[in-house]
Amino acid sequence: MGPGPSNAAAEVLVAMSQPLVGHLDPVFVKMMEELKVMLRAVFLTRNEMTFPLSGTGSAGMEFCFVNLVEPGDEVIVCVNGVFGTRMVEVAERCGARVTKVEASWGNSIAPAQIAEALRTVTKPKLVALVHAETSTGALTPVEEISKLVHDAGALLLLDTVTSLGGCPVRLDEWNVDAVYSGTQKCLSCPPGLAPVSLNARALEVARRRRPRVQSWYLDVNLLASYWGQERVYHHTAPISMNYALHAALRLVLEEGLENRWRRHQQNHLALKSALAAIGLELAAQAGHQLWQLNAIRVPPGVDEAEVRRRLLHDFNIEVGAGLGPLKGKIWRVGLMGENSSRENVRLFLSAFCQVLNECGRKTDAPAALAAAA
Ligand SMILES: *Cc1c(COP(=O)(O)O)cnc(C)c1O
Repeated sequence: MGPGPSNAAAEVLVAMSQPLVGHLDPVFVKMMEELKVMLRAVFLTRNEMTFPLSGTGSAGMEFCFVNLVEPGDEVIVCVNGVFGTRMVEVAERCGARVTKVEASWGNSIAPAQIAEALRTVTKPKLVALVHAETSTGALTPVEEISKLVHDAGALLLLDTVTSLGGCPVRLDEWNVDAVYSGTQKCLSCPPGLAPVSLNARALEVARRRRPRVQSWYLDVNLLASYWGQERVYHHTAPISMNYALHAALRLVLEEGLENRWRRHQQNHLALKSALAAIGLELAAQAGHQLWQLNAIRVPPGVDEAEVRRRLLHDFNIEVGAGLGPLKGKIWRVGLMGENSSRENVRLFLSAFCQVLNECGRKTDAPAALAAAA
């Protein structure tokens, strides 16, 4: 119940243990086509270029930047946590001239800040935004920002590693040009693949660029020949990981996106009510709190690390620590994918209240559980 990896369903783990086939085997090729179809359904997009990149979420981040950014390009990156900070690092390594739009950790990025940055940057090529900041628990709404970005003639790049499968992500409706995600958060699949999608505009930018993409491995122009109809060997696809994602996406679509989002919302609200009943609060900005990642503010006088240690040691429950400016100030409780259940909310609350009592903060467990119910 930390910030990922989340638990994977038994069916997903079983799929990973099936015998291997070749990466150009007809059975695998058919599976690749199904993966693309299912990913489009989950991203709510018709983008042809939608596939699981070999590598974790960070590889997806690099993929988007290396294909779209040329040295000297002006890029605006929104920074309100760890992953926005990482995007700056990646964009700079591509030779971009980066303008940061910053919000304090826990807050979302306001459209007015983007509008301001777009006015000051002469020729913005790309605006990059983290939809769901896993390091703080804050959600940044995309629609209004997308309109501003496109009015300025720039591309919108979105990180949906934590949002995909846990709350609405609507690529086409929001007009997102480039997106990456990860398998191990709300898709509840082990880490190892990065679902990515580029629309026609982004693909055109990658095709027409003058300097070659500096990464051979992540060059979409080469990957397109493997994931497209030509089936040209590029690299050996991680076969077992693709089996796992196939099984995980089937579970997502069987449940239905709307049902899945609602489940995440309800379990978040139950946890939040319980926390309020015992005098604790979430750290992220009100109205922008993630359903899948709940950052709880550590109350004064409680040893943050000791609480995590006891949860893990005594109850086998993992929760995440705060990072950067939030180090020692929050616990990050994931209710992601499989882990977003009533049972887990109750289990966590019972254990958490007991541990808080042991750590010197009187906490009324029955009140918490009643509020959650
Ligand atoms: C986890 C995460 C990443 C990085 O993914 P890895 O799989 O750890 O490489 C990027 N962005 C966000 C928002 C994340 O939560």
